[in-house]
This record gives sequence, C-alpha cells and structure tokens, in this order.
Amino acid sequence: MKLIDTHTHLYLNEFDEDIDQVIERAEREGVEKFYLPAIDSSNVNALMRLEEKFCGKCFAMIGLHPCSVNENYKEELNFVQEWLIKRTFAAIGEIGLDFYWDTSFTAQQYDAFHQQIEWALNFNMPIVIHTRNAMNDAIQVIKGYEGKGLRGIFHCFGGDMQNASEIISAGFYLGIGGVITYKNSGLAEVIKNIPLEHIVLETDAPYLTPVPFRGKRNESSYLKFVAQKIAEIKNIAVEEVASVTTANAEKIFPPDVTSIQ
Ligand SMILES: [Zn+2]
Ligand SMILES: [Zn+2]
Repeated sequence: MKLIDTHTHLYLNEFDEDIDQVIERAEREGVEKFYLPAIDSSNVNALMRLEEKFCGKCFAMIGLHPCSVNENYKEELNFVQEWLIKRTFAAIGEIGLDFYWDTSFTAQQYDAFHQQIEWALNFNMPIVIHTRNAMNDAIQVIKGYEGKGLRGIFHCFGGDMQNASEIISAGFYLGIGGVITYKNSGLAEVIKNIPLEHIVLETDAPYLTPVPFRGKRNESSYLKFVAQKIAEIKNIAVEEVASVTTANAEKIFPPDVTSIQ
C-alpha cells in the first residue's frame, strides 16, 4: 500500500527528538512522500533542513499562513516572494482565511491570500488552502479566479456537501485527515457521497490526531487510520483508497519538483 501525506508539519520542534523514527514508522505503513506546508518565516529554515535531510521523500511548500498575518505581513509576503524566485516548491501553502482566533486582520488576510494566489498563477503552482470559520469566504475568493487555471487542495476539509461540490467544481481537491475519525464531526456523511477522485489524504501532524490516538501527538504513520476510515465509510478496500488518493496527490504535485536546488 502506497500513501502520500499531502500535509504534514514534521519540521516543527514536536519532532526534534525522534524525526528519524517518525519517518521510518510512516514508511513502514506505506507513506512514501511527505509534503511540508509552510507557516511563516520563523520556521521555513527548519522546513528546508528537513527537506534536505530526507531528499526525495520530503517536499517543501512556501507560503504565509493566515494565522501568521499581522502588522508585518508585507514583510512576510516579501520573504515568500524572494523564495519563490530563488527555487521551486511543491506548492504555495498553507494560505487562506482563518477567522476562528482573531478577526482583527481580516482585510490583511484577504490581501495576503489574493497576493499568494496571483503568485501561484504566475508560477503555475498549486495552492494549499487553510480555512477556519471561513469556508464560504475562501470558496468565494477561489470562484473569483474561475477559468484561470487555479488548482490545489482545500486542506483539512470540514464543510458540508454544498461546500464540497463548489470546491470540486472549482477544480480543487478535498484534503481529508484525522477529523474524519471523530464522532459527530458529520464529515463521514459528506465524504460517503464524494468520489475518491476528489480526495487526498493528510495528517496535519502534529495536530488533529486520528482515533485511536486522538489527544496525542499526530505523526504521518497515522495516515493509515484516515485511509481505513474512508474505506469503512465507502465500504471499499483500503488499498483502493490508497491507490486513488495517491494518484490524485501525484496529479497535484508535479513529480519534477525535486527538493533543494
Ligand atoms: Zn491548516
Ligand atoms: Zn497545517
């Protein structure tokens, strides 16, 4: 069984002590590739160091996370742009809108989102979108770019059927992670009716740990619990979930992006 973790923050200090074992455990469960979404300039160096260490397995993204948009977001955007000019990345991400913790930088979040979408179009790169309490708002933004070839993943998708349909018709994939294993998330009902062709798997490690390890640190080897849950919901073999979602991930992330240049 071959799996791809399309969204994992293995470069964060939660993994400083045992990253070698974390990668090894994941590989033993069939996880062959790890896509690393950026947050902001404070941890991009760690992200790239990990990519270099696990060259050909870990792949860096670059981008400014909506929760890191504040007074100095223009500087942060410059930092992203400088890197985009310097080398190739698997995607621009994670970018988007998050109105859960703080809405004082709403306008700036929109500005950063639009700017990074423009770069994705200029560099012909996929984007990885993060939304929290802002699903419809982010979908509206994406719809504004219809017909321009914008593509990517709505990571940690937690919306309803209507949201899912709109995202799919905009040419995006749904990133499904540990939340699918949580009772009462309501996500299982939605995913049951979404063809596998529109789904990719992710852990968002160290966050959003699936059952049976909910509450502990998440890691990429737990991707199998997400795959198993989707197989159970759809009443199909886990191998089918693995092969289709892996093929989807390979369509999104161009295979010629080979890490450090
Ligand atoms: Zn996120
Ligand atoms: Zn993330």
